[in-house]
Amino acid sequence: MTAKILDGRALAASLRAEILARANTLSYRPGLAVVLVGEDPASTVYVRSKDRAAREAGLDARTIRLPADTAQSALLAVVQQLNEDPSVDGILVQLPLPPHIAARAVIEAIDPAKDVDGFHPLNVGRLQDNLAVLAPCTPRGCMKLLELSGVNLSGARAIVLGRSSIVGRPVAALLLGQNATVTIAHSRTHDLPAECRRAEVVVAAVGRPEMVRGDWISPGATVIDVGINRLPDGRLVGDCDTAACARHASVITPVPGGVGPMTIACLLENTLLAAQARRSKP
Ligand code: NDP
Repeated sequence: MTAKILDGRALAASLRAEILARANTLSYRPGLAVVLVGEDPASTVYVRSKDRAAREAGLDARTIRLPADTAQSALLAVVQQLNEDPSVDGILVQLPLPPHIAARAVIEAIDPAKDVDGFHPLNVGRLQDNLAVLAPCTPRGCMKLLELSGVNLSGARAIVLGRSSIVGRPVAALLLGQNATVTIAHSRTHDLPAECRRAEVVVAAVGRPEMVRGDWISPGATVIDVGINRLPDGRLVGDCDTAACARHASVITPVPGGVGPMTIACLLENTLLAAQARRSKP
């Protein structure tokens, strides 16, 4: 068997075009504010991409750049201003923050109705109850790719490799919300290959280059590879050995070009959803 490769770039492009079309029907421009503290090179690139993608999708994007030595209290004051600004529908504080700032305090200061990253405890709790409007972006991207794959999640045995609050846990909650039978595996899991072989759906989010081998994948399984790992030779690879897994799976996402492009597209969609929910309130 050779797996079908799911094209995350094409799916993200169509979602972005759909968001632009939806934004164009509104009487206002949904506003996204991205806050960047310091000059971490990777974060700087991400923030620039988010800003550009938001503008291209018809959103009113603004980036607030603060020096690396910004005090936590000053950052909290900026978040408070954005909470109170009626033209801002979505607030994203780019992580990681400098070590002197407690990321948890900043996340909890964001108005949950504007929390387009879906990291505020209220949105985390809502997600567990299958009530979320603002679910984290990468997990939402995984679910959209699963939808595109055509796999029937209801009752299916799904395994999520990784339990981070950014990817593993929320993706597991979303899968459960779609009635999958979910196992969450992590670094202490016994016999990971055997756990994996039982699964019809595998979502890999461990941050270990090509850890998932071909013989971990049951025949015909659907594989979503969230991992982005840079090898010493400069190549970018996922958490799965894509070529080997593709010999067993029916559908697999590539790295790059799979989950990655979906993350920003889902951020734009969350901003639109936040705007519509907030501005439709009396
Ligand atoms: P974290 O480091 O926060 O979490 C990794 C998880 O994997 C942990 O739960 C850890 O277990 C588990 N793990 C690590 N090693 C093993 C192992 N040998 N066997 C089983 N489980 C293991 O990573 P993130 O969730 O933030 O990211 C995961 C990957 O996804 C990374 O490659 C990251 O770059 C990528 N990513 C991609 C995004 C995208 O847009 N495509 C967005 C976000 C992340 P334990 O809890 O026991 O330590």
